[in-house]
Amino acid sequence: MKIAVTGGKGGTGKSTVATSLAVEFAKTKKTILVDADVECPNDHLLLNAKRKKYSNVYQPIPKWDFKKCTKCGKCASVCKQNAIVFVKGKYPAFIKDVCIGCKACMVACPTQAISMTKKQIGTIYTGKNYNVNLIIGELKLGELASGEIVSSVREKSEEISKKLKSEIMIIDSAAGIGCPVIASLVGTDYIVAVTEPTPSALHDLKRVLYLANHFKIKSGIVINKFDLAKNFYLKIEKFAKKNKIPIIGKIPYKKDFVNSTIKMKPVVEINPKYKRIFKEIIEKIKKSIPTTSL
Ligand code: SF4
Ligand code: SF4
Repeated sequence: MKIAVTGGKGGTGKSTVATSLAVEFAKTKKTILVDADVECPNDHLLLNAKRKKYSNVYQPIPKWDFKKCTKCGKCASVCKQNAIVFVKGKYPAFIKDVCIGCKACMVACPTQAISMTKKQIGTIYTGKNYNVNLIIGELKLGELASGEIVSSVREKSEEISKKLKSEIMIIDSAAGIGCPVIASLVGTDYIVAVTEPTPSALHDLKRVLYLANHFKIKSGIVINKFDLAKNFYLKIEKFAKKNKIPIIGKIPYKKDFVNSTIKMKPVVEINPKYKRIFKEIIEKIKKSIPTTSL
């Protein structure tokens, strides 16, 4: 059973929801939490879990054999990333940091002057706390291919999940609706869309739910800080009703959530009264997917 936790807008409390859900699930089921917010992974901080390196992630990049190069410039003309600079009469210059490894330059070169090598673009770590098995993808600073890291961390998570015989996999995705988010959502059974009662969060929530609908994945909304702005809370409720998307959780704006971040403890461990909220979310997810063995 795979559950993605996402939210169009950053800072809506996605990681708080993902970690607390994982801690609650882990009390009865073998649970894996995948931190796929690879540009800024922080679930290990919220769970106070020590990270251990699992593997590096590499991306192909071209290398040139200038003895074979005729300075035709074709490689530069096919590079959509503008990673190759060509000046007539000179050998092409390569800007490694913006290359995404598509190999178009190698295919286009008429003299086979280009072959592929690789560069490290990220790292995968593991960790464990509160009985939650954590798998973390982290993009190397300055690199661009975050979608690659998400795909790689999802692949490794499948391997680890098989070894551990895990029953629940929660994927904490990046914010937005770009390539890394799509790579986090694909193949999941349920999407928990975390939002807050603000105009920008509602706008981005609609975009995320559009994606869920596109991939035909069931979804539910969790409204964080729901008591902060009643007018926008009501707008989210109206939107959810109109589109027949259940609101599966409402989280109040309380100091405990700030303490959770400061003390590096999931909020359900800071104050047990929040367990009820997350248990209810779990129950509602179960009801939405009746065939599951949850
Ligand atoms: S592999 Fe693709 S992105 Fe990289 S330099 Fe070649 S054409 Fe450009
Ligand atoms: S396409 Fe090949 S031959 Fe032409 S400039 Fe690039 S590397 Fe040189």
